[in-house]
Amino acid sequence: MGMRKVYIAYTGGTVGMLPTERGHAPAPGQLAELLGRLPQFQAPEMPEITLREYNPLLDSANMTPADWVAIGKDLKAQQENHDGFLVLHGTDTMAYTASALSFLLEGLEKPVILTGSQIPLCETRSDALENLTTGLLLIERYAHRMCEVCICFGGRLLRGNRASKTDSEGFDAFESPNHPLLGTIGIDFELNWNMLRRPQAESLPLRVRELGDTSVGACRLYPGMSAHTLAAFLDGVEGCVLECYGAGNAPNRDKEFMGVLRNACDSGTVIVAVPQPLRGSAALSLYATGRALLDAGVVSGFDMTPEAALTKMSYLFACTTDSAEVRRMMQQNLRGELTPLTSENE
Ligand code: ASP
Repeated sequence: MGMRKVYIAYTGGTVGMLPTERGHAPAPGQLAELLGRLPQFQAPEMPEITLREYNPLLDSANMTPADWVAIGKDLKAQQENHDGFLVLHGTDTMAYTASALSFLLEGLEKPVILTGSQIPLCETRSDALENLTTGLLLIERYAHRMCEVCICFGGRLLRGNRASKTDSEGFDAFESPNHPLLGTIGIDFELNWNMLRRPQAESLPLRVRELGDTSVGACRLYPGMSAHTLAAFLDGVEGCVLECYGAGNAPNRDKEFMGVLRNACDSGTVIVAVPQPLRGSAALSLYATGRALLDAGVVSGFDMTPEAALTKMSYLFACTTDSAEVRRMMQQNLRGELTPLTSENE
């Protein structure tokens, strides 16, 4: 065995599923059995593994913010005895969980790598073996030099809060369109050390931020969306990630629509614009249709992914009840999740 100890939090996902009459479904015990049997996991260069199988195992479509906190607490409880963490997770909401953990885990000084697979480990052409062994070897080799939440998938290492699932069929299912890869895994591991967050010499103890019952939501603009529909949505939330057109634009000719946004902002709802296109930033001062958002009180989320913006907003509402502070912090870079445009800052 290698030198390091890795805690595997197996939360569910395709990686350990079995085919059933109703499609792939989680199968308790299946993954542990395979990890104990496949020679790749017994190789001398592999770290020592502790596997915890969650109960119930979840298809990640069923994950909720309470699950993010539970995973965070689980990792905290294991941090003394382990050098790094591998979180096995379904791909569907992996980018949300990775983003959430990047915020919730305050003072993280060890690597947290999320991975899973598009085909279960038990099947012949599975991508799971590659993803799992790479995640484990990354921790074995570099645990002392990495301390952030990453996704390792399809030969790529990505910053967790910059990643989105962009392919539901290919083995390279994740991209970080607005951020360079943290690493490329081929014959060699090529890590981007200029980008990777390094552990600090002096650090505070790891803390897991509880998420209260804050209601935040995401709303994707579409042509013809009525002021009435928008009002109904905003009525139920304290904060909203507004997925806008292009570089952060919305229908400024619809005065009623803009009025709804303005009223919501005036009454303390935090509305943050992110771009619908995968690449690029919400530059609200570029077009009149973006300026109208700024005038209404919407702020830019710059180049954050919708996943990062939503989870960051939940986190910030858990840190403070002051919506002006949430609004301000949404525009600050907390964990490498955004690149600010100075012209947009208040
Ligand atoms: N539906 C599965 C999940 O997200 C898909 C996967 O694991 O790839 O749990």
